[in-house]
Amino acid sequence: MTPLADLLLARIARDGPISIASFMADALMHPVHGYYATRDPFGAAGDFTTAPEISQMFGELIGLSLTQVWLDQGAPDPVTLAELGPGRGTLMADILRATAAVPGFHAAVTVHFVETSPHLRALQAERVPQARWHDRIDTLPDAPLLLVANEFFDALPIRQFIRAGAGWRERMVGAQDGHLFFGLSDAAPLALLAPRLDDTQDGDLVEHCPALPGIVAAIAGRIAAHGGAALVIDYGDWQSLGDTLQALAGHAPADPLAAPGAADLTAHVDFAAIAAHAAPARHSRLTRQGVFLERLGITARARKLASGLNGQALDAHVAAHRRLTHPSEMGDLFKVMALFPATAMPPAGLDP
Ligand code: SAH
Repeated sequence: MTPLADLLLARIARDGPISIASFMADALMHPVHGYYATRDPFGAAGDFTTAPEISQMFGELIGLSLTQVWLDQGAPDPVTLAELGPGRGTLMADILRATAAVPGFHAAVTVHFVETSPHLRALQAERVPQARWHDRIDTLPDAPLLLVANEFFDALPIRQFIRAGAGWRERMVGAQDGHLFFGLSDAAPLALLAPRLDDTQDGDLVEHCPALPGIVAAIAGRIAAHGGAALVIDYGDWQSLGDTLQALAGHAPADPLAAPGAADLTAHVDFAAIAAHAAPARHSRLTRQGVFLERLGITARARKLASGLNGQALDAHVAAHRRLTHPSEMGDLFKVMALFPATAMPPAGLDP
């Protein structure tokens, strides 16, 4: 049991069961007890490792793709380089190092982070001291926008619904004998899920991310108005189907309700929902991370870096390349989708 579990049990005893989204929001972002609010979860000693923490090549290639967008669109100055949920700031540090030689790019760029965790903001400031921080996308400058979000959308709270005839039961978090447990609400029709009546059957579980439409619309509106592009990288697929709520503690799967605030919680990203809110910008085809990185030249870059390494460092480098790209590792599970202006080409590595 965690201090947050006690708070949630008391709240449920008073007000009744809460949605999974409400549970996730507190488990991740509660200002005192939330998972991200209180710790650095990344790396070997943490609970999970992300692509930028695996190898510098990831950020270097993202930087290449974004600077190509900037050049293709006439090298606008000023341009906003923004990241959603930057974690330790590693990805942006690698992007900035890899793009330092692009003439005029650093002079034109201002770096902006959208991050709610004060603890992670402090870590990010060590790596990228020139960044400016925002609680929400809405306060980014009105300028061309180059944006990256790696494993950001998977941390946004989701609701879960189980099909019951023409209606849906919501999966809720309740309390019994001093423990949190999953229950189901009564079935009711839901306008929000009307489109899913076509592709689901009785008993199917679908997930819905309430914050996603507003975030995607804010990014898309800026890109359509001012230019630029956004790269969204995450695990997930086209249209959610099935329970993907997952807890990780110490690199191992855990019971999502067992230790709120002490384990990471994620859900797979529904890229069809991102595509559905991409207008007035366009969205690229959904592309596997391994394919995207290969198209950007990760193997040539890996060979070049390998030539300066030997022994354990070389083994680790080869393993990192494989981990980012191989279909049985992150290569197929993780996907990439870009948002870009209707008048422009998609970023390098992606198809329209
Ligand atoms: N992109 C990083 C970290 C991914 S973890 C990497 O690849 O290593 C998720 C990040 O999103 C954390 O920095 C977390 O604090 C942040 N985050 C989660 N929900 C958020 C929200 N609603 N608004 C802003 N940041 C959020």
